[in-house]
Amino acid sequence: MNPKYAKICPKCQSLDIRTHNKLTTGFIPSTYICNNCKYEGQIFPEINLKDKENVKE
Ligand SMILES: [Zn+2]
Repeated sequence: MNPKYAKICPKCQSLDIRTHNKLTTGFIPSTYICNNCKYEGQIFPEINLKDKENVKE
């Protein structure tokens, strides 16, 4: 099953996002890192992949 939603980089709009798994302490949120521009942060917007197909450049 493919997820309908994907994280998108707020800086460059890349979908090439990975999760930076630090030591799990239970209260620190996951950090996401953009493989394209190396932006990292906890707040990455999610987009609907179906909508993405309809987005005009
Ligand atoms: Zn990026």
